[in-house]
Amino acid sequence: MQKVKDIRRYLDQMLNEKYPNTERRSFNLWILEYLFDFSPTDAIMNAEDLLDEKSVIKVQQMVELLAEHKPIQQIVGYSWFYGHKFSINEEVLIPRPETEELVAWMLKDQTNDKSILDIGTGSGCIPISLAKNSTASVTTLDISEGALKIAACNAKRLNVKINFILADILNLDVLNALSTYDVIVSNPPYVLDSDKELMSSNVVDYEPHLALFVPNNDALKYYSKITEIASRVLNPGGILYFEIHELKALEVKHLLKNKGFSSIEIRQDMQGKDRMIKALLNV
Ligand code: GLN
Repeated sequence: MQKVKDIRRYLDQMLNEKYPNTERRSFNLWILEYLFDFSPTDAIMNAEDLLDEKSVIKVQQMVELLAEHKPIQQIVGYSWFYGHKFSINEEVLIPRPETEELVAWMLKDQTNDKSILDIGTGSGCIPISLAKNSTASVTTLDISEGALKIAACNAKRLNVKINFILADILNLDVLNALSTYDVIVSNPPYVLDSDKELMSSNVVDYEPHLALFVPNNDALKYYSKITEIASRVLNPGGILYFEIHELKALEVKHLLKNKGFSSIEIRQDMQGKDRMIKALLNV
């Protein structure tokens, strides 16, 4: 490995059997962005640049971790969400593009001047993006101290003010920590335990199970709890948004209806899967 362009060749050589071409191509761009702050265009323009020894060693170390299926976002320590860089680590879910679609939906509906509660902070990608792109006043809650810590760092770096609450939504006391809100949003854990076997090891071995999985026999555990909480702390006419499991849309809709919500709308993500839902609390 002597030149910038050799990194791609090295990735192909070392990871050929573990990852498809599209992923190796994406790793190359991640590595070049991380090491040299290169855009994809810079990567082409500077293909013949010579690599110093430090960079070569760094690439080798990164490729070793990739070979162990560590997600590239955890290796570089950040991910992109709604146009901004978010620090991440093993304690938070790597922000997903389908969650950007949920944020886009909310912003299009207008969140200016609204009070919003986000349940399940993680990296802070949802609440921070809402605060960054509107004049909403945003509160976010998580059970994980580690998650709140990293989300607070992200909020500070991205220069937004957010109110953080450390609490377990499964515990009834949570209501004491809350105020009233115009909008509630959540991307709670919804992947079934039984899906673990089908998932790639970069997710199952490295991402926090606390943020991902639910028991097969209680798949809507967080949805029913959050809907209950929302029916108590949403202002009249308030809106609840969820990211959902693609096979559970109708069940979540039913749950919302039973708890006093109406005007329920299900939307698909870019892959055409039922991925998000919106509901109004009846006045
Ligand atoms: N969409 C995530 C995934 O597919 C899951 C997010 C969640 O459980 N809330 O891994």
